[in-house]
Amino acid sequence: MISIKNKSEILKMRESNRIVGLLLHKLENYVKPGVTTFELNKIAEDIIRTEGGKPAFKGYSVPGLSPFPAAVCASVNSCIVHGIPSKSTVLNEGDIIGVDVGVFKDGFYGDAARTYMVGNVSEKTKALLDVTKKALELGIEAAICGNRIGDISSAIGDYVRSKGYFIADDLTGHGIGKKLHEDPIIPNFGIAGKGPRIRKGMTLAIEPMVNIGTNRVREEGWEFFTLDNSLSAHFENTILITDGKPEILTVY
Ligand code: MG
Repeated sequence: MISIKNKSEILKMRESNRIVGLLLHKLENYVKPGVTTFELNKIAEDIIRTEGGKPAFKGYSVPGLSPFPAAVCASVNSCIVHGIPSKSTVLNEGDIIGVDVGVFKDGFYGDAARTYMVGNVSEKTKALLDVTKKALELGIEAAICGNRIGDISSAIGDYVRSKGYFIADDLTGHGIGKKLHEDPIIPNFGIAGKGPRIRKGMTLAIEPMVNIGTNRVREEGWEFFTLDNSLSAHFENTILITDGKPEILTVY
């Protein structure tokens, strides 16, 4: 069932997601060659707790895996999502790192992701990031009251494919609220006009994951990689469906 948030719930969603947006904004300053993903995770967890939130991913469980051990997912280069921060993962000039973070506060979740450039990156890398960011924007633009979830999916997928890139298999956006992952599932490709109706008061996490070389993925525990080890980028925002344009709750 897709939950519709009332006014007081929306206030709480705003607060959790405000912390997510603030954190992702602040964290960008710390992304530099020589920094480890372990250090970035520590900085992120400190910011979340200073703001009165809890890191939602830490301890998150799915069947068959040990609970996620960190506050953020830190996914470098060919890692698509769910990278585990590590003291041995040192960022190098030219890398990209996707940071995905969830915050829980007052009973509600916030969720967003950014892919950061480490120092100077190649034109090819910049182009991947531009396409992924634009795909997220187009998906959000399609999230209009009265449209259907398939309108979001097709806006993302059609654009990404038109640019010659690939949507990562099996990874989707989702509803969000009292749970980190709620209905509906929001695929990153699909058919316009299909799927559940989008209604005012829904809160949705839209998150294209875009690969340069293949749609196929390889899983290693929590971590998803591109099968061909090509680069992958990820941008995500949590939005609120309104009467008019959707409102992004995870902006800074
Ligand atoms: Mg998400």
